[in-house]
Amino acid sequence: MSAELNLATKNLNKMGYLELDVDPTLDLVAEINKLKKEKNAVILAHYYQESEIQDIADYIGDSLGLSQQAAETDADIIVFAGVHFMAETAKMLSPSKKVLLPDLKAGCSLADSCPAPVFRKFKEKYPDHKVVSYINCTAELKTLTDVCCTSTNAKHIIDSFPPEQKLIFAPDVNLGRWLVKETGRDMVLWNGSCMVHEIFSHEKITKLRIKHPDAAFIAHPECEAHILDIADHVGSTSSLLRFTRESDYQEFIVATEPGIIHQMVKESPDKVFIPAPPNNACACNECPHMKRNTMEKLYLCMKHELPEIHLPEWVIEQGVASIDRMLEISAKAGL
Ligand code: SF4
Repeated sequence: MSAELNLATKNLNKMGYLELDVDPTLDLVAEINKLKKEKNAVILAHYYQESEIQDIADYIGDSLGLSQQAAETDADIIVFAGVHFMAETAKMLSPSKKVLLPDLKAGCSLADSCPAPVFRKFKEKYPDHKVVSYINCTAELKTLTDVCCTSTNAKHIIDSFPPEQKLIFAPDVNLGRWLVKETGRDMVLWNGSCMVHEIFSHEKITKLRIKHPDAAFIAHPECEAHILDIADHVGSTSSLLRFTRESDYQEFIVATEPGIIHQMVKESPDKVFIPAPPNNACACNECPHMKRNTMEKLYLCMKHELPEIHLPEWVIEQGVASIDRMLEISAKAGL
């Protein structure tokens, strides 16, 4: 091992990634493709990744699709171009495989808003309740969860419990409130939220809609209720993508992480997509965690097979049942 690699490996936990120089003349797309073949690796990328990472991925999707791919792949290495909880989910589903994440510090404000030890105490107050957790949570929280869900399958997961079964929903309070409205179930909600989806500006969106009267306003259910109330369509990232492809609207104001717009443009090149503005000085609303991954970090992590995701065995054993159950219910529902 070279001295540089040795030092970068030592600093891995501090930095989150291998801090090594990458030759700027290197054709990263060609190199990453070569490494994929040599190592029998698969790249799974979330819709919120940079467009160049989406373009080199073997599979692009939302949390449900990515979990399904992670469970089914026959690759030896899963490279997760997404955030930490997604790579953890892949490790839980395929514990014998090597799971890599280009930057360990690609976290998630929503997952962080529900620490497992605090949630355990909260749960003790509701001994008759089952727990449904949005998949955007830590591996440890999954050990305290009966069934996970994503925004694509959440309604099916909730409806899979008998009506008299009391439920706790964690960690996203906005998605929880939307689900209470959609399913008619009075669930106990954990008060967590996503830093990206909670800061869309009602006022700026209203002004934008006046400027673009023919545009459809579409929103992810992690947005706050007053934003969802004015949306023409509410759904998961896959559902928003499908809506832009299938509806007759030619213009869309999109309230979710703007990385998805790359796929929207690819699928409907003649339509117009406007990212919904947040409540700050920025024009759009990127997830700083998702955007920690870069082509350079992706290349280095595949080349040196670091950083790797490791989980204690007990976490995998106790947590995976909640994801398996979710996949089972989704498959039955044809999702
Ligand atoms: S967009 Fe929100 S929920 Fe998704 S990874 Fe970023 S902080 Fe987490």
